[in-house]
Amino acid sequence: MVDNNVNRVPGITRLENDSWEDIRTGVKSLCNNFPGEYWRKLDSDRTYPEEFVKALTESGYLACLIPEEYGGSGLPIQAACVILEEIQRSGGNGAACHAQMYIMGALLRYGSEDQKNKYLPKIASGKLRLQAFGVTEPDAGTDTLSIRTKAEKSKNGYIINGQKVWTSRAEYSDLMLLLARTSNNKNTKRTEGLSLFIIDMQKAKDNGLTIKPIKTMINHATTEIFFDDLEISAESLIGDEGKGFKYILDGMNAERILIASECIGDSKFFLDKMTEYASTREVFGRPIGQNQGIQFPISRAYAETEAAALMVERAAKLFDKNMPCGTEANIAKLLSSESSWKAAEAAIQTFGGYGFAEDYDIERKYREARLYQIAPVSTNLILAYIGQNVLGLKRSY
Ligand SMILES: Cc1cc2nc3c(=O)[nH]c(=O)nc-3n(C[C@H](O)[C@H](O)[C@H](O)COP(=O)(O)OP(=O)(O)OC[C@H]3O[C@@H](n4cnc5c(N)ncnc54)[C@H](O)[C@@H]3O)c2cc1C
Repeated sequence: MVDNNVNRVPGITRLENDSWEDIRTGVKSLCNNFPGEYWRKLDSDRTYPEEFVKALTESGYLACLIPEEYGGSGLPIQAACVILEEIQRSGGNGAACHAQMYIMGALLRYGSEDQKNKYLPKIASGKLRLQAFGVTEPDAGTDTLSIRTKAEKSKNGYIINGQKVWTSRAEYSDLMLLLARTSNNKNTKRTEGLSLFIIDMQKAKDNGLTIKPIKTMINHATTEIFFDDLEISAESLIGDEGKGFKYILDGMNAERILIASECIGDSKFFLDKMTEYASTREVFGRPIGQNQGIQFPISRAYAETEAAALMVERAAKLFDKNMPCGTEANIAKLLSSESSWKAAEAAIQTFGGYGFAEDYDIERKYREARLYQIAPVSTNLILAYIGQNVLGLKRSY
């Protein structure tokens, strides 16, 4: 049977102290209450980790980025990285609630005082969940600027019509941030026809908002959303009309850094598990990890994870100093999602047939780790960003 308390592979000694050791220990201990069996059952039933999200909220970890004046703990993104890394490393899946950490930033930076006072304290306490982020559409995935969901001005606010796809956690969220088109004017710059709204989903559900779950290869609670003359108040608009794209771009660095940390956590999960297994599984009278064919992919995955982790750390530090970090955040996401996938590959090979058995959690984490080369931004688009914005090469799309 599976032992979930495997030894942890060591991290490279950092030049600075890990100032987040308390948080790391606290999250690790919280996650001990949600072992592999818990996540396995959810995965097999395709259900939402209510108890885990409740525990993470009650402990205050989920509100770590919300400023103290609104009931959070006002910690830097480096602390949030540690929280998500530890959740993934424990074998859990922070994707059930990670969006709350990064989409809250748009409300915090661009929301009115009224909006912040109305929502942030309730998000921090867990009274309201802000888990849903509606950007992608069936005909507008990577090309966000071509979204067609419309928000037309009405007497009291806006009327929304259109469709979103892959809106994750919509069934389990009270609020949604929605990116919608408010102008089709040919003279408006492409980046300026979109606006950002905060929607009360509970109110909207019987009044023009329909949610349909999408079955996927992982337990991700993702959905399609249909808007059919949904009326929302003028107070739902965040910031200025037409600036929505700029607002979400601003939040993307946080999203990339946090998801990169989850990938590092996934890599470490695989490294912990496969190192232990390679040391104890004996074939031909010796541990399989003694064979270079098994040992070297593990060593490579370790080296690549440590290199990617340094990039995540660098991006997070720049972010916390309010310095430009688009390049670092993109590279961190690229390298960490690739290193977690390589670690997943090495793990399934190391476990042999047992890698396919649900009880070992390798096959579940293998499926889950694959997502991050596609969402929230695909590897190709990061490479295009580096080519164009860092190296000055011609735009490829
Ligand atoms: C499980 C899951 C959860 C998600 N959750 C959310 C969510 O909560 N909210 C949300 O808004 N979205 C969400 N997404 C959507 C996700 O962000 C998109 O899937 C992603 O942005 C890619 O869009 P697409 O799937 O339409 O791919 P497409 O845009 O159709 O692209 C398909 C492939 O072509 C490549 N490609 C496209 N154009 C180019 C180019 N010019 N150069 C090189 N390669 C190119 C892409 O890299 C990709 O590999 C989720 C997706 C998944 C699978």
